[in-house]
Amino acid sequence: MLLRSLIDFLFPPHCLLCEDEIESGFICEDCLEEFVEIGPPLCPNCGRPKKKQCGCRDTHLDWIRGWVYYQPPVDRLIQEFKYHNKPSLAKFLGRKMAAVIRGDPHYHRIDLVVPIPLHPRRRWERGYNQSELLARAVGKELGLLVDNPLIRVRDNPSQTGLTETERKKNVAGIFEVKGGMSGKVILLVDDVMTTGATIEEGARVLKEAGALAVLGAVVAIAP
Ligand SMILES: [Zn+2]
Ligand SMILES: [Zn+2]
Repeated sequence: MLLRSLIDFLFPPHCLLCEDEIESGFICEDCLEEFVEIGPPLCPNCGRPKKKQCGCRDTHLDWIRGWVYYQPPVDRLIQEFKYHNKPSLAKFLGRKMAAVIRGDPHYHRIDLVVPIPLHPRRRWERGYNQSELLARAVGKELGLLVDNPLIRVRDNPSQTGLTETERKKNVAGIFEVKGGMSGKVILLVDDVMTTGATIEEGARVLKEAGALAVLGAVVAIAP
């Protein structure tokens, strides 16, 4: 802690988004104010505010929550986290996710926190799996067990630029489950949800392996 204060004194931290000097942390108050948090009443299938006719189909997720909308400047923060070697952001983002989960009664029971895995080749290239770091941060914050029973067996191409139907096809069969999930309530963690195809595929195989319920948690949801 003392070392941290000394480092902050010698090299004052800067906001990752606007580069203004800040006392501590990663984001300045002004930038943080631009983040749009997503609050209830929510659709349990897509985590977006519930409209009269959401048009959402039923999913294998029993509930899904995101902290904020995936739009500027949040998108830039998540890209920093994923692609610019900033694993330390996991603690900050994990805390925000934990606060959302703590305040939502649908999440009163969680037996295991599980991250959406990267394919081993991509994990090796990046040096870390951002979703695993988030899962560990959330688990630590809430005092929950974290494990990696989901295995990515196929390195599917990026979902970017694909239609909803193409995304579904692209993620079919990418996961396998190691070990039994019988009767467990799983908190499935990912960084961003766009159409939800990836997290839905994860929920599907976890339920196939016996999970009682799968609750989703992401940092950001595409508006
Ligand atoms: Zn800023
Ligand atoms: Zn919906």
